[in-house]
Amino acid sequence: MALWITDECINCDVCEPECPNGAISMGPEIYVIDPRRCTECVGHFDEPQCVQLCPVGCIPVSPSQVETKAQLLERSHRLQAEACPPGWTQDVQAAVSGPSADAAAAHPVIGSPPGPPGLSPAGEPAPART
Ligand code: SF4
Ligand code: SF4
Repeated sequence: MALWITDECINCDVCEPECPNGAISMGPEIYVIDPRRCTECVGHFDEPQCVQLCPVGCIPVSPSQVETKAQLLERSHRLQAEACPPGWTQDVQAAVSGPSADAAAAHPVIGSPPGPPGLSPAGEPAPART
């Protein structure tokens, strides 16, 4: 985590719902960022969403907690795997960290062969395009 919220925060509530990792929450007096969940938005957006949206510019970079993009991306993958329903976690972890083609081919949904033209994989008529 290289970002933190200073005491200039006015508790405007703008940043909290926009964080893709649920890293922002209300602290004792102002909003705070959980360093275990902040990825600087790596894995979701090109720029930190909270920094982009904060009306008073109170989310600076902490020079003492610099992390590489690879470290942040690894955290993003871990958080997304943890958020998956039971049974999907290992598939997703394998897909993001291992030979993705093998993991995808073995997945019960991703690995399903496509159905015939005009039919769903289950053989039912595909919904009409609008
Ligand atoms: S930089 Fe992104 S991940 Fe980190 S607290 Fe802000 S919105 Fe959340
Ligand atoms: S957007 Fe900025 S001022 Fe608003 S709650 Fe978040 S940190 Fe505080």
